[in-house]
Amino acid sequence: MLGRDRIQYKTPDQVRLMRRAGVVVADALAAVRTELREGVTTKELDAVAEDVIRSAGAIPSFIGVGDPPYPATLCVSVNDEVVHGIPGSKVLRAGDVVSVDCGAILGGWHGDAAFTAVLPGPDGGLDEADLALARVTEEALWRGVAAAASGATGGRLNAIGIAVEDHVAGRYGLVEDYGGHGIGTEMHQDPQILNYRTRDRGPRLRPGMCLAIEPMLTAGEPHVHTRADHWTVATDDGSHAAHVEHSIAVLEGGLWVLTAHDGGVEALGALGVPVTPLAD
Ligand code: MG
Ligand code: MG
Repeated sequence: MLGRDRIQYKTPDQVRLMRRAGVVVADALAAVRTELREGVTTKELDAVAEDVIRSAGAIPSFIGVGDPPYPATLCVSVNDEVVHGIPGSKVLRAGDVVSVDCGAILGGWHGDAAFTAVLPGPDGGLDEADLALARVTEEALWRGVAAAASGATGGRLNAIGIAVEDHVAGRYGLVEDYGGHGIGTEMHQDPQILNYRTRDRGPRLRPGMCLAIEPMLTAGEPHVHTRADHWTVATDDGSHAAHVEHSIAVLEGGLWVLTAHDGGVEALGALGVPVTPLAD
């Protein structure tokens, strides 16, 4: 069942504070993006993100989570890794598909976001199949985000999963073992957000809900397993995977994408969805 009993509805002032945390995450991911290249280690990328977060007076939120305690600022998941790849001595190679997930806490409020990038191959070109996988995952994310805008008109949470599933439309494996979540004074809050349709339509989308939406797609089957490090989630069939995430706030009359520098204006504008950032 979708958790709906302990949803934390934020006031506009609290959403403004979450936006600050979201921008720190956006800044950290932007810095990582500029360092993404063949030859860099995932641990070096982790240090870039940690520096941005701590320089902003924020705290990396993934460190210490779970059991065994997660040891890093980022999750960097490469090729057949879907999520929760632990940064280390792994060296990125030409043609790798790299998913980077980052969380930060600022003033007690959390932000959480992820992107997937494809590195140029040995010949300098980009693999078409990997690019399409990353592109469709990002499109699915934005469709899910756009569906949350129906909160202004009384939509239900599962509208997000329906939008994600309908966009993927069987073209890719849609990972069902992991999904999105409410976010606020903790990284993971109610409600759980599934990336597919269910009979339970879920709680009503209402202003003040802050949600992390994060579809995960594979180029093959959707089945995944956790590796011996107790964290890294990889595809059973070895197919490549992509993971894209934003933290959003449902507001009166629209949405605000807290972890996008532009608040979601460009991507949501293309889908005809109003972005309603709160003035400082
Ligand atoms: Mg995340
Ligand atoms: Mg998340």
